Amino acid sequence: PFDVLVVGGGPAGSAAAIYAARKGIRTGVVAERFGGQVLDTMSIENFISVKETEGPKLAVALEQHVKEYDVDIMNLQRAAKLERGSEFVEITLQSGAVLKSKSVILATGARWREMNVPGEKEYRNKGVAYCPHCDGPLFKGKRVAVIGGGNSGVEAAIDLAGIVAHVTLLEFDSKLRADAVLQNKLRSLPNVTIITEVLSTEVVGDGNKVSGLTYTDRATNESHKIELEGIFVQIGLLPNTDWLKGSEVELSNRGEIMVGAHGNTSMEGVFAAGDVTIVPYKQIIIAMGEGAKASLGAFDYLIRSSAP
Ligand code: FAD
Repeated sequence: PFDVLVVGGGPAGSAAAIYAARKGIRTGVVAERFGGQVLDTMSIENFISVKETEGPKLAVALEQHVKEYDVDIMNLQRAAKLERGSEFVEITLQSGAVLKSKSVILATGARWREMNVPGEKEYRNKGVAYCPHCDGPLFKGKRVAVIGGGNSGVEAAIDLAGIVAHVTLLEFDSKLRADAVLQNKLRSLPNVTIITEVLSTEVVGDGNKVSGLTYTDRATNESHKIELEGIFVQIGLLPNTDWLKGSEVELSNRGEIMVGAHGNTSMEGVFAAGDVTIVPYKQIIIAMGEGAKASLGAFDYLIRSSAP
């Protein structure tokens, strides 16, 4: 059995594994796709002390750093079940294998909900973006759209309005769902247009980058096109916790793992870190910090518990 078994090989899981291995305890990492969301990222400019890097490069660096230590990496393996065995916490993989560990760190991350329209995948990182904190500055002085009128969409639109030339916010419903204070702030901005009751239908581009967005007005059924350089999709971030439903681990109403100050969850010996938890602001540097914290939390748990 492991002392610490990390589920997830993104920034949070990598940090957790390194912090555990440096304590000289038996450490394993199970990851469906080592690298996580970082693999889907192009330019990264806010990973402090690294002026600029690219996602795939950072993913390789993560793996190399973990491999500096005696960590058992089980890549391309999906965890399907978490339960308490007689002596250990048990993780059942989709393959049927069962891994046992004295403590577990859940770092399975999250994924952005997509619009699912033609052109969205093709122009991802070429104008289609999901993270205003990450990619906002790339659109300085340009025209962008924000898809989604919930809190995250309206926050994104306010944030972007300070950087870009113009923001068009599109909402499917007939009214925005964001808090009134955010809506008031948004409506006070001179370079923002709000369009409600619309369905985005296609991301248009020149083959290299985004040049526009088409949408249908749901009231009139008419189709329209906006010319722009960027589209920020803000219709939800889905935590990868489906496999934990029915386990002892308490989830929030959004499906995020509830954690305490030490990364502890409601299940003894089980910790969590990164985008999969309730901790706000989903960023690489935050996920890494949380991963380190959960790992130290797990170590503290181990030295206090009677488990041999
Ligand atoms: P993830 O990176 O999501 O990693 C989760 C890991 O868990 C993966 O290895 C996954 O395969 C694995 N996993 C999931 N389910 C299971 C399972 N059941 N069993 C086993 N393994 C599982 N942040 C920035 O700070 N700067 C940026 O510039 C930036 N740009 C971004 C651009 C894009 C396009 C995207 C999508 C995100 C961007 N982010 C950026 C956000 C950043 O990537 C995330 O905050 C960060 O990767 C979260 O790390 P994590 O380890 O919590 O989760």
